[in-house]
Amino acid sequence: MMVASDFRDNDHESASAMPIKSRVRTIPDHPRPGIQFRDITTLLQDPVGFRITVDELVNRYRHQNIHKVVGIESRGFILGAPVAYAIGAGFVPIRKHGKLPAQTIGQDYELEYGADRVEIHTDAIAAGERVLLIDDLIATGGTALAAIALIDQLGGHLLECAFAISLPDIGGIEKLQARGIATHVLTEFEGH
Ligand code: AMP
Repeated sequence: MMVASDFRDNDHESASAMPIKSRVRTIPDHPRPGIQFRDITTLLQDPVGFRITVDELVNRYRHQNIHKVVGIESRGFILGAPVAYAIGAGFVPIRKHGKLPAQTIGQDYELEYGADRVEIHTDAIAAGERVLLIDDLIATGGTALAAIALIDQLGGHLLECAFAISLPDIGGIEKLQARGIATHVLTEFEGH
């Protein structure tokens, strides 16, 4: 019989890019022709897939004395919240314009077609706090750079940005690295 403790040490020994990558579903031409949408719902709905994804991040960051895990709306919440809980950090949401109820600061950023804005509560991070940023996927890096600007404005000390998926051919991860920002990626997909 399998009991809960059977999972504890087994899964992260075998955890690597492939078991995560193989559980991500690709939807061609969604939401527009030419886009390969990397759908993480198939990873999340799989108990082993969800566990190895969260555990990989928890194992990397558990001894880093992180005060706040920042997740970007909305898929960054799904991974950021359990990681924050497991490493004993607080969780901070960065949300789309107009969603956060208290005082915020915001950052505009460019999309392929048009622009968007992300916001954070001004009291979410205290100056000097050690921060980890988490999102599901990095493509152009525009969303992550906007989030980083908000963390910087609040005086947070950003240790690293972690993404379940990187699309390196689009160049976002390189853009962050070129600015001296530490990054960590669980798996990569070629192309757009
Ligand atoms: P970017 O700002 O270009 O790095 O885009 C990152 C955000 O857009 C992430 O929060 C992703 O959820 C979403 N995204 C961009 N491209 C894709 C894709 N090919 N498949 C799934 N999500 C994507």
